[in-house]
Amino acid sequence: MKTVAEVLTQARSAGVDRLDAQLLLCHVLGRSRSWLLANDDVALDATQQQHLSPLIARRASGEPLAYLVGEKEFHGLTLQVSPAVLVPRPDTETLVDWALELLRDTSHPHVLDMGTGSGAIALALKHTCPHARVSALDASDEALAVARANAERLQLDIQLLQSDWWQGVAGQRFDMIVSNPPYIAEGDAHLAALQHEPLQALTSGTNGLDAMHEIIAGARQHLNAGAWLLLEHGHDQAPAVARLLAAAGFSEITTRPDLSGTPRCTGGRRV
Ligand code: GLN
Repeated sequence: MKTVAEVLTQARSAGVDRLDAQLLLCHVLGRSRSWLLANDDVALDATQQQHLSPLIARRASGEPLAYLVGEKEFHGLTLQVSPAVLVPRPDTETLVDWALELLRDTSHPHVLDMGTGSGAIALALKHTCPHARVSALDASDEALAVARANAERLQLDIQLLQSDWWQGVAGQRFDMIVSNPPYIAEGDAHLAALQHEPLQALTSGTNGLDAMHEIIAGARQHLNAGAWLLLEHGHDQAPAVARLLAAAGFSEITTRPDLSGTPRCTGGRRV
């Protein structure tokens, strides 16, 4: 039987990152990373080895670690994820932090998250800002099931609804709308690295801006006066999103960088 140290060496030669291999071992052994580091001479039993080997192989072929272990940390929450939803990215915490700053001075805002996927943004907002009423929509029933399970497990009371962008919220107005919509151009070379994630959550038309157009076009009539629309977008899309917001009559248009300094979110305020 192989020891923890031998498994790590083997994983490395298969091209799997050391940290990822450690996290897969933690998952299979039901142990913490600190236990693993102190016990690298412990041998796996046959069942553990059988469980681990295909996971290492799947990671080596590019499946996101989050799908293999079934969860991902986002903004201090542990979220369950499946291939029905995009893996929440640290970049998106920029959007959450911005929304939270703006919500700080409001009394009982009603916030809408469009294209919620795992529920990451909506749940992080509700967790840090419990006085907000948070609604979240997604076109995918499978994604909504993941979001609902996360909300229940974390005991965060958010309203989830199936909706193809605005179709399910006709006549409703919100005090803030946030979205991390699909924004990659169809045919973008970057998609090869994302082949395990739902295409519906990633691509949007030939220039990646179809969803952005649709969200921005409908936002005015779903926002109260003075309310913000905050959008995550691709690394080179800030000028295009700012232009769309300006054309739709938004004011105070602002762009924020993510942790790596890339312009990642752009928002505007309904006059
Ligand atoms: N940020 C993701 C990526 O490029 C894409 C997310 C999205 O399309 N909303 O990996």
